[in-house]
Amino acid sequence: MIKVKDLHKSFGDNEVLKGISLEVEHQEVVCVIGPSGSGKSTLLRCLNLLEEVTGGEVYIEGENLTDKKVNINEVRSRVGMVFQHFNLFPHMTVLENITLGPKKIQGATKAEAEEAAGPLLKKVGLSDKANMYPESLSGGQKQRVAIARSLAMNPKIMLFDEPTSALDPELVGDVLDVMKNLAKEGMTMVVVTHEMGFAREMGDRVIFMDEGVIMEENIPEKLFGDPDNPRTREFLSKVL
Ligand code: ADP
Ligand code: MG
Repeated sequence: MIKVKDLHKSFGDNEVLKGISLEVEHQEVVCVIGPSGSGKSTLLRCLNLLEEVTGGEVYIEGENLTDKKVNINEVRSRVGMVFQHFNLFPHMTVLENITLGPKKIQGATKAEAEEAAGPLLKKVGLSDKANMYPESLSGGQKQRVAIARSLAMNPKIMLFDEPTSALDPELVGDVLDVMKNLAKEGMTMVVVTHEMGFAREMGDRVIFMDEGVIMEENIPEKLFGDPDNPRTREFLSKVL
């Protein structure tokens, strides 16, 4: 589903990604951990064209994103992204937030988009909030709306960038539960997270990034239980 070959990304003379290679299979859940500033968000953003890459190649379902002919909106429909800070439209209701993309980008009618939104709201446990505005929701509810909004585009891949980091601790579980259900349904997911419990339980693989490179990559049992790289050990000793 995803193939990244020797990806480099610089901002000015700051090289943030220094040759990342990575593959994600259909229905795989890959969790990315690592210290702040190591390039995790930049990597995710390169996977759905929120950043232009400086070097190397990114393939999504075989399509080379670095090809100038790529249709950005089409790629972003296929590769959904959920951010730490929700990014909901404050002047729109929950239902309007969820139906905007299908209407504006995929050409759905209002009725079609609203019909499709029903099951999505149910999936994220917010069927009773359709007509509320974001400001009246908790952070956890806003994040679940953001997930439903991404899913409304029928993505093949979902990218999550620290989706629970901005939430009060008691609200984290509901968001993780939605993500776990999505994983169990077979969604291909790349999840940047500080939730080591989630990575351990749901990750098919865990990647440890540091200073713009993949330092170590393994199944969770091995990476958390007996990491090979001293940097991984040091990081885990601080967060576990
Ligand atoms: P992480 O998500 O692991 O904390 P980021 O990918 O957000 O790391 O950032 C890695 C580095 O890239 C940081 O040094 C950050 O300052 C830099 N960076 C990220 N985005 C930009 C940008 N738009 N312009 C300039 N520098 C950026
Ligand atoms: Mg980040």
